[in-house]
Amino acid sequence: AKEQGRNTYRFYTSTLTIAANERLELDARLRRALTNEEFVLHYQPQFDNLTGMLIGCEALVRWHSPEDGLIAPDRFIPLAEETGLIVQLGDWVLQTACAQHKLWLDNGLPDIMIAVNLSARQLQQQDFAKRVAAILDATGLPAERLTLELTESMIMLPGEQAIELLRELKALGLKLSIDDFGTGYSSLAYLKRLPIDELKIDQGFVRDIPQDRNDMEIAATIIAMARNLNLKVIAEGVETKQQMEFLTLQGCHGCQGYLLGHPLTPEAFIERLLHAPDR
Ligand code: C2E
Ligand code: CA
Ligand code: CA
Ligand code: CA
Repeated sequence: AKEQGRNTYRFYTSTLTIAANERLELDARLRRALTNEEFVLHYQPQFDNLTGMLIGCEALVRWHSPEDGLIAPDRFIPLAEETGLIVQLGDWVLQTACAQHKLWLDNGLPDIMIAVNLSARQLQQQDFAKRVAAILDATGLPAERLTLELTESMIMLPGEQAIELLRELKALGLKLSIDDFGTGYSSLAYLKRLPIDELKIDQGFVRDIPQDRNDMEIAATIIAMARNLNLKVIAEGVETKQQMEFLTLQGCHGCQGYLLGHPLTPEAFIERLLHAPDR
């Protein structure tokens, strides 16, 4: 039994070592990717449910790895969050999205909103609002064109911390949106006190509409609640006409999803912008 115990122990040490090595290697590759400018942003359009107009887009990061091709964010964002690289990567994303949108505006393209995802680590930086201000300044993008997407867990901070942080960001003139709404545990009372502009219904509640009655109830409740709180509400992951129709009927302001448009390269997105408001 003693022998077996030792083997087991050795087995676990070696798998841990392998995992750690792999993580170290991926971390090194990500750092190199940032220097070599291997990250790209794709832009997914958002539409107004009533008018059908293109009203905004969400910037979604991808890694264009020379060895492995296009890599989805789920495969590198979690590690970047753990190691802290997300702070630099997040700065790059914000900078690139703002610069891109400014370029579109300068070229006379319709002035829509641009949404950028944030990580908890970025918000934890004392000077985060200053960094955002500096990026807006450097790129020349009007702050009111920018939406920052946060999740419920990121702003479940004790005391007045969240309110202060969000107020500081709001003071720049930008919009704040709560991403993946409904998956966290923030209370209505809490939400009401925060200076936010928009809720994004998590795609988990949209996916099984109209088969899942509970999801329909939840989506309808979020929409009604958002409207009562004077917040904009956007549904994500909209893939079918029925979902779109149901959400619109409930009073959902905007939709984003494969039904209306996949995340697109900047070039493909310009084409889409030029043809707005046609779907
Ligand atoms: P998210 O913010 O919830 O983004 C929505 C995800 O749903 C995107 O996946 C998008 O491509 C996908 N999606 C859009 N429409 C549909 C649809 O109709 N059906 C389905 N099944 N999926 C749809 P993506 O681009 O792979 O991003 C995954 C996650 O990675 C994002 O989830 C976000 O949490 C994170 N992420 C992406 N870019 C960034 C970034 O720049 N910074 C940070 N911190 N996180 C990012
Ligand atoms: Ca998002
Ligand atoms: Ca989301
Ligand atoms: Ca998500």
